[in-house]
Amino acid sequence: MDISIIVPLFNEAESLPKLYEWIARVMKENRFSYEVIFVNDGSTDESWKVVNDLKDAHVHGICFRRNYGKSAALYCGFKAAQGDVVITMDADLQDSPDEIPELYRMITEEGYDLVSGWKQKRYDNKLTKNLPSKLFNATARKVTGIQLHDMNCGLKAYRNEVVKNIEVFSEMHRYIPYLAKNAGFTKIGEKVVQHRKREFGTSKFGLNRFVNGYLDLMTLWFLNKFGKQPMHFFGLVGSLMFFIGFIAVIIVGSMKLYALSNGVRAMLVGVNPYFHIAILMMILGCMLFLAGFLAELIIRNSPSRNDYLIKEEI
Ligand code: UDP
Ligand code: MG
Repeated sequence: MDISIIVPLFNEAESLPKLYEWIARVMKENRFSYEVIFVNDGSTDESWKVVNDLKDAHVHGICFRRNYGKSAALYCGFKAAQGDVVITMDADLQDSPDEIPELYRMITEEGYDLVSGWKQKRYDNKLTKNLPSKLFNATARKVTGIQLHDMNCGLKAYRNEVVKNIEVFSEMHRYIPYLAKNAGFTKIGEKVVQHRKREFGTSKFGLNRFVNGYLDLMTLWFLNKFGKQPMHFFGLVGSLMFFIGFIAVIIVGSMKLYALSNGVRAMLVGVNPYFHIAILMMILGCMLFLAGFLAELIIRNSPSRNDYLIKEEI
């Protein structure tokens, strides 16, 4: 099969018939063999009924019992996808199926592992979406080192091998290119895509996506850098803090001894604020060190501690 198109959807009943018709038309015109995987993420409207009514051999529907989020929907779609090239797109008609043939060509002919859409001209609310999104992408570029303008674009294309070897989880759908890069799929490209106004329904993501997105980015960065060797992080920070505290205690003590031996009246060590700060540093340093040991113990029990992606073997 040439293409699997994964469409995560949450209350998008009005858009679905038009979207499917459009996808089918583009697929037919280009003679692709394809499947469309609709993942109904616990919609409370008629969406699932609409998917059922499509009654077409190309349609594969997955229906969650409740709303789990876009990442969960993509995860299940990725697991089911059989096509050589896997396309993800939103269900709200904001992404255009007309982009699919070119995305397919970039993966199969230009050898990209992943091509991300770039909504260069965007038809969303300027203040709540477009501007914060620019900031989000600039931060993501710095942290991930992937030069994409629109990391979280719903329209993306992947080589099948990529989606089978990454695990989208929690709300990590925003950083799929980063997951791919960390798994060793580094040929990541970008294509300017058409974007359209939302015709029906409302956006499912509010402003809290930026707070969550920022925290998730930190998590991924940490996991990528220290996920397999947490002691390298906790041990280093812990040792540094302990060392600074230890030196400070020695300074506080020697100053007291120096004052005593010269017969100068000096403050009691116990009321010296520097003494308390120094002790606190030493205790925190020990705690961080212990956290590092605990993290190492946990990792040794992780079933994926020795999972490696082997590219070739001869
Ligand atoms: N979506 C989903 N589960 C959710 C939230 C959203 O499957 O919990 C789907 C939604 O139906 C749409 C896509 O994810 O197909 C993108 O959502 P939306 O269009 O609301 O995001 P925006 O374009 O406003 O960033
Ligand atoms: Mg949308």
